[in-house]
Amino acid sequence: MTEFDEFNIKEQICEIGRDMWTLGMVSANDGNISVKIDEHTFLTTPTGVSKGKMKPEMIIKIDSELKVLSEGNYRPSSEFRMHLRCYKERPDIGAVVHAHPPYATAFAAAGVPLDQYSLSEAVMLLGSVPVAPYGTPGTDEVPESIAPFLPFHDAILLANHGAVTVGVDLMQAYYRMESLEHISKTLIAAQALGGTKELPRKKIDELCEIAKNYPIRHPGYRKYS
Ligand SMILES: [Zn+2]
Repeated sequence: MTEFDEFNIKEQICEIGRDMWTLGMVSANDGNISVKIDEHTFLTTPTGVSKGKMKPEMIIKIDSELKVLSEGNYRPSSEFRMHLRCYKERPDIGAVVHAHPPYATAFAAAGVPLDQYSLSEAVMLLGSVPVAPYGTPGTDEVPESIAPFLPFHDAILLANHGAVTVGVDLMQAYYRMESLEHISKTLIAAQALGGTKELPRKKIDELCEIAKNYPIRHPGYRKYS
């Protein structure tokens, strides 16, 4: 990858950070984003900085041993270890997004997974979204807690904390976070109207078949095949 390519990715990380902050998915210095450059090298967001106010020169280059390769005083988030675990468990993953979007995080705080299919798009875009057991942020407890779910899910709620999404590239990982929040918001609104109505199993299977033809991987659907 050329320096020009890396700069473009850094700009895209800043743009996604602005979108996350603008949409209220993160507040203060919350959240982190990373992109895989090669098997052992990554670009990631700095800690202690609003994700809505990042500049390309603030983005950190780091290796799989947590050695910072870029110059400057910015340091990666301690939550980057969670990102590394995603890349380790799933070689297909090219980007990881972590945020605290309020509606999805409400599910995480309540310990409620998104595993009842009442929205067709939710089946096709995300599949089921489990809640990984609580781990203290920044410790190995978080990577350990998500590892068993990674082979089967592209979006995972972190109990009492937030959410993490993965994708083949940054746009896919980010869109999954956006979809997760949008779906969570809709499901919570439906509770005020008497609750959701789940799709019949046959219709869920049909949606899974359609989703298989999407040019993206849907490990979350394995439970239906
Ligand atoms: Zn967090």
